[in-house]
Amino acid sequence: MKKTTILFDIDGTLLLSQRAGGRAIDTVYERVFARPRSIELRLHGRTDRGILTELFAAEGRELTDADFDDFVAQYLRELEQNLQQQPATVLPGVGELLGWLQAQPHVELGLLTGNVQRGAKTKLVHTRLWDFFRFGGYGDRHAHRDDVAREAAAAAQQHLQDRFCPQSVIVVGDTIHDVTCGRAIAAKTIAVTTGGSTAEELTAVGADVVCADLSQGISLLRPYLD
Ligand SMILES: [Mg+2]
Repeated sequence: MKKTTILFDIDGTLLLSQRAGGRAIDTVYERVFARPRSIELRLHGRTDRGILTELFAAEGRELTDADFDDFVAQYLRELEQNLQQQPATVLPGVGELLGWLQAQPHVELGLLTGNVQRGAKTKLVHTRLWDFFRFGGYGDRHAHRDDVAREAAAAAQQHLQDRFCPQSVIVVGDTIHDVTCGRAIAAKTIAVTTGGSTAEELTAVGADVVCADLSQGISLLRPYLD
C-alpha cells in the first residue's frame, strides 16, 4: 500500500514554547562570546544551523563543526531547563489530529523542522508528541530549509521504501519558509497562523490551505488522503 507522508513543523505549528529555544540560544551565546548578541535573532522558519551560522558571522567567525557541536550541547541543556521551568503548550487540535492520522493505515507522520534533531525530541517529549513521528528532516546540517525538506523526503523514502509516494507528501507549517520548502519538494502545503504569520503572507507564497489552527485539521486533511 502506498502511503501519504505528512511532515509537520514543530514551533508555532504543533506547540508554542514561550521562546524556550530562543532564550537558550541567548544564554549560550553570552557564555560563548561574553556579551549579548548585537544582531536580531531571527528564528521563524529558519534552521538551527542557519541561525548559528548567522550569529557566528556577526562576530566575524566562521561556524566550524566543533563550534556547532559545542554550542548545541550547551543549548540542549538550557532548552531542557527552560521547558521544565515554563512548559510548552500544545496548540489547539494537534493532539486529536495526530491521534486520528496515526490511526489511518495509509498515512505516515514525520517531522520537517529547523530544530536540531535532539532539540526537536526535547520539545516533543516534553509535550508527549514525540512518539507520533517515525522520521524527519532536521536543522543539524542545513542552513536552508529547502534542504531540510529534501532531507525529510529522503528520510520518508528510506523509512517507507517502496510504499513512499513522492506525489503524496503534505507539509504542515506556520511560516512562509514552511510553505516554500514544501513547494520545493512538490508537496501540498497546509499553513496555520498560530505562529504569527498572517493568512495573507502564507497565501501569497502559495499555501494550498491556510487555517487559524489545527482544530479543524481532520476535515482539512481528509480530502488530501482519499
Ligand atoms: Mg514553525
